[in-house]
Amino acid sequence: PPSGADAVLQGLDPEQREVATALHGPVCVLAGAGTGKTRAITHRIAYGVQAGILQPASVLAVTFTARAAGEMRGRLRQLGAAGVQARTFHSAALRQLQFFWPRAVGGELPRLLDRKGPLIAEAAARCRLRLDRNELRDVTGEIEWAKVTQTVPADYPAAAAKAGREAPRDPAEIGQIYATYEQLKRDRGTIDFEDVLLLTVGVLQDRHDIAEQVRAQYQHFVVDEYQDVSPLQQRLLELWLGERDTLCVVGDASQTIYSFTGATPDHLLDFRVRHPHATVVKLVRDYRSTPQVVHLANGLLSRARGRAAEHRLELVSQREPDTEPVFTEYGDEPTEAEGTARRIRELIASGVPASEIAVLFRINAQSEVYEQALADADVPYQLRGAERFFERPEVREAGVKLRGAARFGGNDTLLAGAADLPSEVRAVLSDTGWTDRPPAGSGAARDRWESLAALVRLAEDFARARPAATLADLVAELDERAAAQHAPTVEGVTLASLHAAKGLEWDAVFLVGLTEGMLPIHHARTDEQVEEERRLLYVGITRARRHLALSWSLARSPGGRPVRSASRFLDGLRPGTGTARRRTAGLLTGGIERGGSAPVAAGRPPRAHRSPARCRVCNRTLTDPGEMKLMRCEGCPSELDEALYERLRDWRAEQ
Ligand code: ATP
Ligand code: MG
Repeated sequence: PPSGADAVLQGLDPEQREVATALHGPVCVLAGAGTGKTRAITHRIAYGVQAGILQPASVLAVTFTARAAGEMRGRLRQLGAAGVQARTFHSAALRQLQFFWPRAVGGELPRLLDRKGPLIAEAAARCRLRLDRNELRDVTGEIEWAKVTQTVPADYPAAAAKAGREAPRDPAEIGQIYATYEQLKRDRGTIDFEDVLLLTVGVLQDRHDIAEQVRAQYQHFVVDEYQDVSPLQQRLLELWLGERDTLCVVGDASQTIYSFTGATPDHLLDFRVRHPHATVVKLVRDYRSTPQVVHLANGLLSRARGRAAEHRLELVSQREPDTEPVFTEYGDEPTEAEGTARRIRELIASGVPASEIAVLFRINAQSEVYEQALADADVPYQLRGAERFFERPEVREAGVKLRGAARFGGNDTLLAGAADLPSEVRAVLSDTGWTDRPPAGSGAARDRWESLAALVRLAEDFARARPAATLADLVAELDERAAAQHAPTVEGVTLASLHAAKGLEWDAVFLVGLTEGMLPIHHARTDEQVEEERRLLYVGITRARRHLALSWSLARSPGGRPVRSASRFLDGLRPGTGTARRRTAGLLTGGIERGGSAPVAAGRPPRAHRSPARCRVCNRTLTDPGEMKLMRCEGCPSELDEALYERLRDWRAEQ
């Protein structure tokens, strides 16, 4: 039998082996999704340890999410390399900061701020500026972006203009709020999430003795998902390395999906320029997905433009063929959700575990209709990294208004002129400033509009199913649905945004809501922004091992006017379009299925799936009724940008 080190190499192909055995000097792996990048670096560390070349404690492996870090540690243990540090950038930085703070600055590390919102609101007030809730969220996002791109307050207006940011307020005002917020934090002795990286960089830059101590501890660095590294993370990596180049990075430029938070694939693509002697390895064998899934991913990328696309490699599936990807066009959104839930039930009945199935969408506002359809179909599910529909503040607030109006029996002057139930709901919402027309641009105001529009659609469905229903009936229905959706379930179908799906894989993946306006999202206007949307779809497609379903719906509500069309990214991929039309014996001859637009059975009482309530941020079991309703600990944050929130949640889970 092979020795420990040789055994570690057994599970690798020749190129992956090259990665695993190149233990000296810089290594860069450029490869597409599912080619075993994460596997190759994990085995590389294990091989180095088993061969006695790497000391476990001298290796620092950096992954993108806490879940990935945990998986890597588990895998390393199995491969006989326990004791290696596998962490996210944030978690690694915090540990170092806590350790060195007393010596570098004195005293204890300042308290970590859980929520920026209140302090940013206070900073705005000091600048004599008032922010409504949406503006507060968007300004918070801008300050976070500025910090991860190492932009100081005075430079914010110019930097934001250059980056094409849609500033929610006058950029000069945001710069002022940002400066005041930083001052307030210093005065109160607190630091925020981004400060953890900024301060670590600061300490390592200023204090040679401390930097040397860190460098003496860590000799070898491995970074996964390197295409999404931010400038600040790159700086930290350089400080860890010092003069050395004992670095191995792996990434796929075609999976860059965090550039709106300052990440850039340039570090990956220019690795050879920085390290002329680097071993560069390309992997093309795809071990994750069937030939059908891989064919679709290749087809999508063949139409991509821009720097990332120039470096793409055609993937070659190593798996047996399985089912064809299914394209389904539905008449409307509730029918799409019902159809999806039905297919999921069939898959589960055929033996696919629920935990091996995912429904992926572009924005979290799309989740509600799927949460409901899965609950109705009695399928357990869990939502990754999103606020559940009925817990969103605007939806809760609308509920309170609706309840008030229902009590007045519809005689309130507010509802004068409303004839039917959906109009009554519209009338109540119009009191909060909501109109049928979406606000221009992206950001919190648009998200809020989407949530309330989903509520109107829900009222329309309900009225259609129960024509005699009153506002009071609708309120009761909303309460029931909200109650049924409170408890998260374990080991259910995963509902997640495409951003949250990065690096993960499932047997069956449903990509839903693939319409113009959703993917690409309506506010993606520049070519670069549209290309990032295409990459999101690529990430989505390549999460599937065996079954892939893509769907879209032409109208929002049953019987509604069809105003939408399928995503432009599907042109030439779905049957009946572009080159796919001429294909006779190809892989995509299955044709587009019509999902129909039968009225949904709204008003059917949903069945509850109850299991212990846990905090969505830190996973602690919750017992306090208030916290259970929010599905979040009192101390856990609620108002970060989706992508940053994702990272923060992971990071806390890791602590
Ligand atoms: P992503 O870009 O999505 O992060 P990746 O390149 O990191 O993907 P991995 O997650 O490492 O890919 O591997 C994809 C799947 O293929 C995993 O299930 C992995 O175990 C399997 N795999 C990778 N290499 C091999 C191999 N040589 N033999 C068998 N299975 C492999
Ligand atoms: Mg990976």
